[in-house]
Amino acid sequence: MRKIGILGGGQLGRMMLQQAVNYPVETWVMENDEQCPSASLCHRFVKGDIRDREAVIAFGRQVDALTIEIENVSLEALQVLESEGIRVFPNTKALGIIKNKILQKEYYRANNIPTSAFRVLSDRSALQASGVSLPAVQKLATGGYDGRGVMILRRPEDLASGFDAPSVLEEMVEIERELAIIVAIDERGGQAVFPPVEMAFNPEFNLLDYQLCPPDLPRATLWKAEAVAQSVARNLGSPGLFAVELFVDRSGEVLVNETAPRVHNSGHHSIEGNFCSQFDMLLRIVLGYPLGDADIILPSAMINLVGADGYEGEPVYEGLEDVMAMERTFVHIYGKRETRPGRKMGHVTVLANDRHTLIHQAERIRETMKVKGTIKK
Ligand code: ADP
Repeated sequence: MRKIGILGGGQLGRMMLQQAVNYPVETWVMENDEQCPSASLCHRFVKGDIRDREAVIAFGRQVDALTIEIENVSLEALQVLESEGIRVFPNTKALGIIKNKILQKEYYRANNIPTSAFRVLSDRSALQASGVSLPAVQKLATGGYDGRGVMILRRPEDLASGFDAPSVLEEMVEIERELAIIVAIDERGGQAVFPPVEMAFNPEFNLLDYQLCPPDLPRATLWKAEAVAQSVARNLGSPGLFAVELFVDRSGEVLVNETAPRVHNSGHHSIEGNFCSQFDMLLRIVLGYPLGDADIILPSAMINLVGADGYEGEPVYEGLEDVMAMERTFVHIYGKRETRPGRKMGHVTVLANDRHTLIHQAERIRETMKVKGTIKK
């Protein structure tokens, strides 16, 4: 039986493993935390640091193909494995570009892909000397995840507390909407594009509240977004799954924010909402099977369940049964042993024929279900 390895053992890997059960494949996972969401679902769990060159090489040599659920892996190790004939999704050329925000932005520029204007900075003194017009957005070249590597600079005083490391300094986009489009490319160059998803933000906290598919935008804007996303994925020259995050600005222009070369939070709804989910699609690519149908079955909303403020310890899922009793809802709990404020603990997808119902249901779910914990702070 063929063996595939996943570097990283979080919820993305877990949902891929849930689908892998349907195919003749042996699944291996490497991750430091033995109690991670993927550990109990794979055939073989290997405890190890996915950033450690030697550990990843040793792991990779035991499988036929490898994929990632986070970009923060040893690129050097994957290069060695690729040269030995192990198939790596995405390939190391694409991963090398995306892993570093400087190279990623330069890639967009070199390929005429619309993105916000930017300059490259070596450290904080370069930021202070930049004479940049504010507001601007500074992003760490490497190592920033879930908003931690992004800083919005609004006043001249903010420059003194900017990141003191290689980074990109971007022009602030006047964002009208944020979209994500997942593009899948197989080893023969075949392609499937998932319909766009719209991120709905809570203006009070600037937190992602829920996402909707399809978005409520003019067709012409969505076509433009799809063309841009396809161009991002195609020019990378790699098989795999690519989640392209886009901004639509006030004038209707489409700009690429960033790309993830893997399954992505913006594709969770596809498990129930689409004929082929993003997880199934990536597995098909890694295993050399035909691509699936990315079209939607019904419109959907996806609500992330994050740890509530003020709670830690073992998670307590308040309102779980109330949400399960609602129409056409699908609850996913990631099995994390501990909750923390803001930690992604699960998600709920809801399907409905019309957008009005979806928004209503998403708000209800958000109000009804809370992830609290056994320790109150
Ligand atoms: P992360 O990968 O850490 O989530 P992102 O690059 O996606 O970081 O940025 C996080 C958020 O910051 C985006 O979703 C967007 O709302 C905002 N943002 C990022 N870049 C810009 C920009 N150039 N102009 C305006 N807002 C931005």
